[in-house]
Order: sequence, then structure tokens, then C-alpha cells
Amino acid sequence: MGNYLKEINADQFEAEVLSSKKPVVVDFYSTECPPCEALAPKLDSIAEKFSSEISFFKIFRQNNKELAQKLGVSSSPTLLFYSDGKEMSERLTGGIRKKTIYEHIANLLPIELFNKLNTHAEKINRLADVIIIGGGPGGLTAALYAAQAKLKTIVIDQGMPGGQVSTTHMISNYPGTGKPVHGYELMHHMSTQVLEAGAVLFPAVDITSVKISHKNNMHEVIIDDEVIITAPAIIFATGAEPRLLNVAGEKEFKGKGISYCATCDGKYYEDKELIVIGGGNSAVEESIFLTRFASKITVIHQFDYLQANKTAQETLLNNEKVQIVWDSEPRKFEKSADGKMAVTIENVKTKEVNTISSDGVFIFIGMSPNGKIIPEEIQRNQWGYILSNSEMATNLPGVYVVGDIREKSIRQAITAASDGCIAAVQAERYIESLHNKKNAK
Ligand SMILES: Cc1cc2nc3c(=O)[nH]c(=O)nc-3n(C[C@H](O)[C@H](O)[C@H](O)COP(=O)(O)OP(=O)(O)OC[C@H]3O[C@@H](n4cnc5c(N)ncnc54)[C@H](O)[C@@H]3O)c2cc1C
Repeated sequence: MGNYLKEINADQFEAEVLSSKKPVVVDFYSTECPPCEALAPKLDSIAEKFSSEISFFKIFRQNNKELAQKLGVSSSPTLLFYSDGKEMSERLTGGIRKKTIYEHIANLLPIELFNKLNTHAEKINRLADVIIIGGGPGGLTAALYAAQAKLKTIVIDQGMPGGQVSTTHMISNYPGTGKPVHGYELMHHMSTQVLEAGAVLFPAVDITSVKISHKNNMHEVIIDDEVIITAPAIIFATGAEPRLLNVAGEKEFKGKGISYCATCDGKYYEDKELIVIGGGNSAVEESIFLTRFASKITVIHQFDYLQANKTAQETLLNNEKVQIVWDSEPRKFEKSADGKMAVTIENVKTKEVNTISSDGVFIFIGMSPNGKIIPEEIQRNQWGYILSNSEMATNLPGVYVVGDIREKSIRQAITAASDGCIAAVQAERYIESLHNKKNAK
């Protein structure tokens, strides 16, 4: 890899960026910043292609604080795109994917020129023992065990490693933390431990293709259309995610008043009032669980009947703490000055609009497995969860699955980690059996 990203400081910004004849890309980076480290090689390889037409600079944020403040750069990394001294398009921050950078670069050049320069780079080959797709607690635990067993282990994630737990405010049921800890803190420790064990992480990448081998026992994953990784064992750990309502305020207050996990967050609402959205099995079961803590629960449901099993319905409906608002859907989530969540609901039959207030909101409208990149030949159930045996093996040799993407009954960080341990040990045994077979020939 070349050194196509030139370092500049605040004094050079005017001349090199604002007065530049060429379009400019500026990367504000910091040290001890994993997404900055993940971005640098990607940006360098893009700069290699486009440096004849676009200038690429990096600015060390800690030493150029005034400039960063003046430009409103408040997180690292932040990528800015300039043309004729003016900032173009939106800024990119956090775990930045290569594909997204290309989309922004395409706006800086005439399309013919962009296409001419955007030639396919030569593919890079990486050989591993285990490829793990997904860096949540399942994938990272598998990586820890595999790396400690001296297997060449590569973890690939479309974002920064950490998974759903990283976006969870507090986690208090993962053993060994001593006290409730921030989700991102737990996952930061997990990723650090995995790196120290010798695994390689490829964060913020796009998976171009996954091919399961039926001939030579070498599965293949291509990332960013550029790096071909092959290994005899592959572990899918892509997780699942709660379905979103896609209502105003939902994303903003996710983890800050809106929760999707009663087991995880119910205990924070002792003697508090809650709103639950949903009326299916999970909403009813989880509401029953929440009655252990909350003083009052208002269930908002879009129909005039619940869709859960009869016993659960009866338990819920007979609980004095529970009241149900039928035929209604949420339209907006807001937080009032006293920290309460205000939910605007609309009656779908009368169109009447009301606002209800509570200490917290739980949304239970189902989960979606992240299985798009998992080849169809790997068996799954009707909801898309991957089938496995108790050793995390799928229907194909050398292919394992762990965590929330598996068909299972309890989806928690600890059960994902447990799956990860089992899959890694089984992968190790599988690889050993391949070696033994080879040696016996
Ligand atoms: C709001 C909330 C609070 C929670 N609180 C708790 C709690 O307190 N305690 C607890 O034990 N559990 C909690 N959970 C559940 C817990 O987070 C999950 O059970 C656990 O994270 C599952 O781990 P996983 O490794 O299977 O998947 P995930 O954590 O979902 O991680 C999957 C990873 O795969 C990556 N990925 C997905 N698709 C692709 C792709 N195509 N290419 C590359 N990478 C991909 C994702 O970016 C992600 O990093 C909570 C869940 C939520 C939603």
C-alpha cells in the first residue's frame, strides 16, 4: 500500500484545501480511534486511484483542535469533501464503508472521468483457518477461542465490531463485569481481547460474495470487491435486529427511553409507568414480564384483539396494572423536559390523535434475522433463522452459526457468547480432522 494520504495542519488548510484547484477529501483523525484505523487503509487505496484528479489529506484532530472546532468537526474520523473551496455533500463519520466513500467521490468528478479512474484494483488474497462474519458477542467470542487455539482467524463486520450490545445503554446481566456497564464498554473490552489474542478484524466492510465450498473444503468470502479470504471453516454471526416502527423520534430515543428488550431493561423501571407497543406473542409475553417491575403498563395495539396465545392473553388482560389502547398506532416519540417519553398515537378507525406520557417505551413488533449474505443452501426456518445442531454446525461441513441469527429460544449476549465458544472449538476439531485425513492419504 502506498502513502497517498498527505498529512497537513491547520496552517496549510487555506492553501491546500480552500484554494485548491482540484477537489479535496479531508480526513480528520485521532489516535486510539479504531474507526480511524479502519478508515486509513481504505482511504489510501482510494487515493491511489484518484490522486491525479483529487487531493487527499489527513489532519490530526488533537493537534488542530481550533480548526476542527471552527469546521464543526466533533467526532473522529470525519471525512469532508471539497470542490472549488466549498464543502460538497454530507460528511461521513464513524465506521465508514468504502462503498460510501466511492459514492461521495463520484460527486466530485465528471462521471466519465470517475469511471475511467475507478478501475478494479488487483484482488488481494488472504488465507485463514476460520472466517467469522459478524463481530457481536457471538462472533467475537468465537474469534477469541479460535485465535487462542492458534487458528488464523479473520472477523468481518459491516460496521464497527460490538453488535447490538454496543448500542445498549447499560448491560447488567453479563457475568464478570462486577456492576452494570455501558454496552459499548463491554464490547470494547471484548474486541480488544480478541485483537490481543491475534485475530484480525476487518471492520466497516461490504461483503461482495460468500461461496461455500463443496469440493476443496475452502470457503471463500470476498469483501469490498477487493480482498478474497479463503478458509476451511466459516462461522456466521450476523445477529438479528428488532423490527423498527419507523416512526419519528424512534431512532433518536432508541436506548434513551425506547427499548426493545424487556429482559435487559425491565429492571430499570421499578415502580415506573411504561408504554408497550405491539400485540403479538412477544409483546404480550414481554408485557407480562414487565408487570414484575412497572406500576402501570399501557399496551398500544393496532387491532381490537391480541394475536398472542390464549393463556398469555388472559394473564395479561387479568393483570390490574395493564390497560390496553386498541386500534391505535404510534405516530411520534418525544421526550419532555421532565425526562418522560411522550407518545403521540392515532386511532386508526376514528383518526383521533392523543398523546400519552410514560417513563419508558418498549417496542415488540418482532425481530429480523440478518441473513441476506448467508447462502440459500444453508438451511433456515420459515422466519429466516439458520438451523444448527447443539454444536452450532449447519447442514454443510465446516459451516457454523452462532448467536441471534440461529434458530433458538433465548437471544442474549451470554447465549451468543456461549454459541461462539462452541462453534470455535468445533471448527478447530473440524480443521484438525481435515489435516488428519490429508495426512492419512
Ligand atoms: C436494545 C437491546 C438491549 C439489549 N440488552 C441486552 C442485555 O442487557 N443483556 C443481554 O444479554 N442481551 C441484550 N440484548 C440482546 C443482545 O444484544 C443480543 O442477543 C446479542 O447482541 C446477539 O449477539 P450476536 O453476536 O448474535 O449478534 P449481534 O450483536 O446482532 O451482532 C451481529 C454483528 O454482525 C454484523 N453484521 C450483520 N450483518 C452483516 C453483514 N451482512 N456483513 C457483515 N457484518 C454483518 C453486525 O454489524 C453486528 O456487529 C439487547 C438487545 C437489544 C436490541
